[in-house]
Amino acid sequence: MHAHKKSDHKILISAATLQKRISALAKQINADYADLSEPLVCIGVLKGSIFFLVDLLKQVTVPLVIDFLQTSSYRSGSEPGEVRIRKDIDVAIRGRHVLLIEDIVDTGFTLKTILELFRFRGAASVKLCAMLDKAEAREIEVPVDYRGFEIDDIFVIGYGLDFDERYRELPYIGVYADSAGTNS
Ligand code: 5GP
Repeated sequence: MHAHKKSDHKILISAATLQKRISALAKQINADYADLSEPLVCIGVLKGSIFFLVDLLKQVTVPLVIDFLQTSSYRSGSEPGEVRIRKDIDVAIRGRHVLLIEDIVDTGFTLKTILELFRFRGAASVKLCAMLDKAEAREIEVPVDYRGFEIDDIFVIGYGLDFDERYRELPYIGVYADSAGTNS
């Protein structure tokens, strides 16, 4: 069993609240893309977005294809926010409508890099769907078209989000004890 679960974090957004919001987002997406003539290209950013992507796309009724990419960021001295593509998508996106699915938008550097890349490749449109938005932590402007929840600038875990690769499997969003300011 998971001996450390719940003892080192607090629930910020419950599983039920997450699922309710995801249903609403899916409805919005279904309405916005209702007239699409070819499949919507849904691209998840690994690994954090996978739980969100799966629950969301099960409720999206427009034709779609799914692909993934993975980034890594380096925030060293002279070039803050340099983002690299570690794993690129396999699908061609020229002339296609893209929905980028992210776990959380923090500074915005990751999203900005991906959005620019997709526009450079000639996507017909690129929209962003993010489960969580730390709006006050933003350093670079990125438009969030579909937003699950806006949260404070605190470190969160669960529902795909990790702390040292742990806690991704939690069905809710939690706040790690250190960041919540408690040790209980
Ligand atoms: P940005 O480029 O917007 O600063 O960073 C976005 C990425 O940072 C997210 O995709 C996520 O991987 C990571 N991140 C930002 N805030 C958090 C957080 O509170 N918890 C976790 N687990 N990851 C975070």
